[in-house]
Amino acid sequence: MATDKPARVCTVIGGCGFLGRHMVEKLLASGYRVKVFDINRNDDTNDSITYYTGDICNKQDLLSSLQGSDIVFHHASPPAAANDESLFNKVNVEGTQCLIESCIESGVKRLVLTSSASVVYNGSDIKNGTEDLPYAHPPMDYYTQTKIIQEKLVLDANNTDESRGPVLMTVAIRPHGIFGPHDRQNIPVVLNAAKNGKMKFIIGDGKNIVDFTYVENVTHGHLLAAEALHEDSVVCGQAYNITNDEPLPF
Ligand code: NAD
Repeated sequence: MATDKPARVCTVIGGCGFLGRHMVEKLLASGYRVKVFDINRNDDTNDSITYYTGDICNKQDLLSSLQGSDIVFHHASPPAAANDESLFNKVNVEGTQCLIESCIESGVKRLVLTSSASVVYNGSDIKNGTEDLPYAHPPMDYYTQTKIIQEKLVLDANNTDESRGPVLMTVAIRPHGIFGPHDRQNIPVVLNAAKNGKMKFIIGDGKNIVDFTYVENVTHGHLLAAEALHEDSVVCGQAYNITNDEPLPF
């Protein structure tokens, strides 16, 4: 007799942010049970979600939100425009290390990181870039510097014990710009600049293109990556670029 499988449980770190909120919706719609961990809270709380307020750098804060979770999605970061070296180091490097240790302590087996396409951007145009591009050296800014370290930490944490099987299976997804409802960083900044008359100049010949991915496509990619994390999967310990079909003219 067929029986319903119990819903799998996910913890979404940074689940009150732009991408995190969409990830939560995607997971609920796909039949997952969802826990949200964030240093901030949104106004729009949902009764079917358990919320944990805490700092990713604090293991005690993290552990309760990870207990019983099958998959962790890690979206927490200061905004790229923050330009604060010590904050980026604290959250993206120390916080990610703390999250990895907490996942292992809690018995979480799958960790999906939102990295960034900027980890391979060294200032020269990239068209049809593939995952084998080297990390940027030097990185363009503090944000990128810590996203590179963060990605390496997560991919290096992919580990299988010969007798016990997978200790932690990890994957990183590298979007460039993300757009969609609740975006606070990209499109609103451009629109405000335009409204304030600060968009009067074109740099280059006006044919520059930049890669933006619709937020639902980004969450779809994260979910596919998470579901592909199993013992001996080629996805384990890998980074993947993500985009829409065609880059948008900018
Ligand atoms: P966001 O700022 O909307 O969300 C980040 C969330 O992390 C926020 O809710 C914030 O409160 C939380 N957070 C920050 N510091 C924390 C801490 N110490 N402990 C716990 N939570 C903390 O950002 P976003 O646009 O949703 O970005 C999500 C992820 O995607 C980030 O890792 C970012 O680097 C990556 N990314 C974003 C874009 C983009 O265009 N938005 C592009 C490439 C990569």
